[in-house]
Order: sequence, then C-alpha cells, then structure tokens
Amino acid sequence: MADLELKNLFKQYDDAKGTEVAVDRVDLRVDDGERLVLVGPSGCGKTTLLRCIAGLETTTDGKIEIGGREVQDLTPNARDIAMVFQSYALYTKMTARENIGYGLKHSSTLSASEREQRVEEMAEMLGIEELLDNNPSEMSGGQQQRVALGRALVRNPDVFLLDEPLANLDAKLRAHMRTELQRIHSELDVTMVYVTHDQKEAMTMGDKIAIMDDGEVQQVASPEEAYDHPNNQFVATFLGSPSMNIIDATARKDSKGVTFTHENKTLARVSSSYIEGINDGDDVNVGLRPEDLEFTDSATGSSFTCRVTVREYQGNSNYIHLKFADKELTSKVPTNVTPDVGDDLEVTVASEDIYVFDPDSGEALK
Ligand code: ATP
Repeated sequence: MADLELKNLFKQYDDAKGTEVAVDRVDLRVDDGERLVLVGPSGCGKTTLLRCIAGLETTTDGKIEIGGREVQDLTPNARDIAMVFQSYALYTKMTARENIGYGLKHSSTLSASEREQRVEEMAEMLGIEELLDNNPSEMSGGQQQRVALGRALVRNPDVFLLDEPLANLDAKLRAHMRTELQRIHSELDVTMVYVTHDQKEAMTMGDKIAIMDDGEVQQVASPEEAYDHPNNQFVATFLGSPSMNIIDATARKDSKGVTFTHENKTLARVSSSYIEGINDGDDVNVGLRPEDLEFTDSATGSSFTCRVTVREYQGNSNYIHLKFADKELTSKVPTNVTPDVGDDLEVTVASEDIYVFDPDSGEALK
C-alpha cells in the first residue's frame, strides 16, 4: 500500500528579506492508487508542497508518510517517489532510450537485459517505441514530455508527482496528453499528485481535487462536490469559467423564506428549507453561477431587472454581460438566446442554485 499522508505540514522560507510561509499546516491524504490534483493561483504554495513530498525541500514542521512510513527526513532517492517537471529536464545528449533507462540508474537488482526490457515496455505504453534512438532535439514537445514521463515511471515509484507537466504544450496536445495521463494512471495504478494552476485541467484530471490558497488547503473533494458545494467563496469563485458572480446583499427574513436585496432591490429569494444560519438583517455575499441565470418574460417576486451591456459569442454558448444596479454580472446562455445590447431583462435564479457566503470569513452559509 502506498497511500500518501501529510500531517500538519508546514514550510517557511527564511531569507534576507524575511520569513515567507509557503505551506501552512496542511493535512492531506491520497489513497493508494488515487489521483489527486492540487490546484490554486500562482504563489499559493503548490510547488513547494510537491517539492516537500519529493524531498527537494526540507519541511519546517509536520510529517509526510508513504504507506505508513515517515519519509520527511529521508533523501529524495530513499522515498520511492518520481517527479515530472514542466521543463521535462531531459538529458539533451542522451537518446530517449538512455533518458528512460536513466530512471533505473539506482536500481541494483535488475540485470542489463531486464532494464532494457523495462525501457521498451514503458516506451510501448507511452507510444514512443519508434523514437527510442532519437535525441530530445529531434522530438516534439509532446514526445519529450512522454520521455520524461517514461523516465519517471520506469522504476515503478510508490508515488508519482507531476508539476504542471503540460504547461509547455499547445492547447490541442495538452487536451490529448490529459487523456493519455489518465489512461497511464489507470494502467499503472500508482498514487499520483498532479499540480496545476488551471482549474479546468484540475476538474478534468482529478479523482479528487485539493484547492489551495495562501499556503492552506481550502477544500478537498471530488470536482463535482467542490463545484456544487464549495466550502467558501474562494473555492466557489476559483472553480468555473466565467467565474461565479458575487453580489453584496442584505438578508430579509419572513415566514416563508429569505429575500436578498442589493441597494434595496430584490436580487434573489430562497425558501425556508435553505436558510439555516442566515438571520434577518445579515450582510451576506450572494453567489450566482453564470449558467444559473435564467431570463424570464415578465417580472416575478424573485426576479431582478438587468440591462444587457455586451453580448459575446463563444461558439457553444453566449456570454451576456449585464448591469444590475452598480454591479456587472455575467450570464452564460445557449447560442439561441440573443438579447440585444441595451435590452432590459428579467433574471431569476432557482433557490437551489443560490450560494450565500459570510462576507468576512468567506465561509459558505448555504
Ligand atoms: P506557481 O504556480 O506560480 O508556481 P505556487 O503555487 O507553486 O506558484 P510556490 O512556488 O510554492 O507557489 O510559492 C509559494 C510561496 O513561497 C510564494 O509566496 C513564493 O514567493 C514563496 N517561495 C517559493 N520558493 C521560495 C524560496 N526558495 N525562497 C523564498 N520564498 C519562496
């Protein structure tokens, strides 16, 4: 069993400029054979966390366990971990065969012919058998990335770490390699941690995603759970494109439910079953996903009037930019919905699609 567990992991950098906490007491578990995607904005601590697991950074405090064995004080080689970087880091003067074989350099138990066999099996799995005698300069970015994957995976690591491995590939190849990586992962059944700053990539790649901000893990969940039930406003706005609309509002409670108003205008209404934890007069942030905004023909008790400011054609949808009081909202609608700029529209959002956050802590209230 090679499950990976981080316990109270803490990493701070001390240099002449002062102290920087990069990883702030992270608890995280990745089960044996599971694929976890670590996602968050630039500087949130993803790379540092991964480098701590790999042993390329010392940890300031906390534990790292692989298969129940504490590894935080072991050298990188003693951890049974393989890592792939954005920059491939291939040896330019070696062929693909030599680069992949280099991954077995520290393996004393294999004979030369067993090593050769392992390299060829790996090349076959990655679809690069024909390239084994080429140098990296004779390969495309995607082919080089496969060689880098082969070099990492050939020694059958317990844990496989990838740091933005597809960032240097063009959009089409990136999409292809994403599916390839999922296939490779399911064939090898290796415990995998994959770092990206791209929320779309995270949603498609992860069995589970861990969303990080400012050194802390904000939520660990399946992509669907994190998208539908974000713990807080950070997660809610980080996942989804265009991102969730956030409007500051006041809660007005009556016997049937709560009405949220912004500048005394009704914005949304939810029935009583949804409103535990929200009190009359509370200041809250209301979150509305662009795809949940619906246009209706006439005003209702829970609709609000918006003016269309911009219409953007996106191929498979239209983004309609709207003005509501002093707020700019974005809606995502089918391409046959084509209001004109300057039109006034009635907009509603179903009770179950309304998100409510504490404006101070960002915590989800509904
Ligand atoms: P990116 O997506 O841009 O690579 P990241 O989420 O991987 O960002 P890290 O590179 O882990 O973030 O950086 C986390 C924080 O630690 C940042 O504030 C960064 O400035 C700081 N940091 C990283 N490496 C060092 C270092 N060697 N010395 C000092 N501070 C560092």
